[in-house]
Amino acid sequence: MIGLKEALALPPEEVAALRSDLIARAKERSDLNAYIDLATSGTGVPIAIKDNINVKGWEITCASAILQGYIAPYDATAIEKLRQAGLAPLGRTNMDEFAMGSSTETSHYGKTLNPHDPTRVPGGSSGGSAAAVAAGIAIAALGSDTGGSIRQPAAFCGIVGMKPTYGRVSRYGLIAYGSSLDQIGPMTRSVEDAAILYNIIAGHDPKDSTSAPIPHQPISPEPDRTLRIGVVPNYVAQTSQAIQKAYQEAIQALEGAGHTIVEVEMMDAKYKIAAYYITAMAEASTNLSRYDGVRYGKRVEASSLKEMYKATRSQFGKEVQRRILLGTFVLSSGYYDAYYIKAQKARNLIQQEYAKLFQQVDLILTPVAPDVAFPFGSKKEPLEMYLSDLFTIGVNLAGLPAISLPIQEYEGLPVGLQLIAKAFDEKTLFDGAASLEREVAYKGVGQ
Ligand code: GLN
Repeated sequence: MIGLKEALALPPEEVAALRSDLIARAKERSDLNAYIDLATSGTGVPIAIKDNINVKGWEITCASAILQGYIAPYDATAIEKLRQAGLAPLGRTNMDEFAMGSSTETSHYGKTLNPHDPTRVPGGSSGGSAAAVAAGIAIAALGSDTGGSIRQPAAFCGIVGMKPTYGRVSRYGLIAYGSSLDQIGPMTRSVEDAAILYNIIAGHDPKDSTSAPIPHQPISPEPDRTLRIGVVPNYVAQTSQAIQKAYQEAIQALEGAGHTIVEVEMMDAKYKIAAYYITAMAEASTNLSRYDGVRYGKRVEASSLKEMYKATRSQFGKEVQRRILLGTFVLSSGYYDAYYIKAQKARNLIQQEYAKLFQQVDLILTPVAPDVAFPFGSKKEPLEMYLSDLFTIGVNLAGLPAISLPIQEYEGLPVGLQLIAKAFDEKTLFDGAASLEREVAYKGVGQ
């Protein structure tokens, strides 16, 4: 399967053939359940879109029963930009309901399989996008990342996934989960393709009040630049053998390429879990209050208004309900100071820690997750699932850009690592990622 760069250079008749080819392959691989829907027509290079990004005229559901039948009334800014650059949506990809999860097991449409091992999760919440790219049934995809949902499925499926700086890519038309954390980003087969897609979707958008009015210069990754790269032994110590091995080999490869490795220590990631889940649930509880049977989506008719609300909002799956309840709790008077305000204070400290580290180093190399893709059903307790986000959520709390890329395989499963840069320094992020990609020379994806 060709990459995004080659696809964008194809003449129109070959682009049409590419779409038919991808659709045929996607149907052959319907066992993966990566797509919810496919669009047979469309002019432009086909790209897979997570089911929480508005594509005008398409159904958009966030993989939830509550949004069944809801039709997107407009294109998200990211989609508008894709169209202007000669791309066109190919299909909606599966995800955890409302992007809440790390495994794509909570989708109303059923789970997505990991193309490397059908007994394991593809990661989440953008598991459909990651599986589609890894299986060669998409050349590239858009995902969204609130706490790791682009980077972790990318690592589990052996592809590249990038989360831009908060404010770099417009959130207009992205259905909100945690508004102060969410970003749309590219999921591709190479660092170069990720940069191409990032260049297309990045930039200031007056329609999103949190979009940064900072000029965006198109980036082409330069792997020859040498950088100071921070490594975090106290994080790596909490990971499996597979991750530790990839981490050590990545360090050696980076040193071999002339980068300077600097050992740093970071705060216990458990504080990030607490600060993130309080913040994300609080924001989710307010964002999801609009799905009430009156304003958006499905209405379940009942004998009274109260019963109608109850029956309609019972359409939310268990995990979403849990988060709405916890989010409402931490925002309620009497608990607001103890939980929500405290989490914001912790968030501030997390931001300060990164700011301090970036005085010493250009990039930080960390694990993406504590282990490789886990088997379906293996994380029974919600907290167990949340703990798998240890190394990705700090980046969202601090609004930083980060990229996950495949490093090697371990017992047949891809192992990804993450590079993190300072805010709005996507250039350095892509330079470092291109260097690491070249040095490890592992292409995790099925071709
Ligand atoms: N796993 C995290 C959560 O459940 C992150 C999800 C995401 O980035 N959308 O909140």
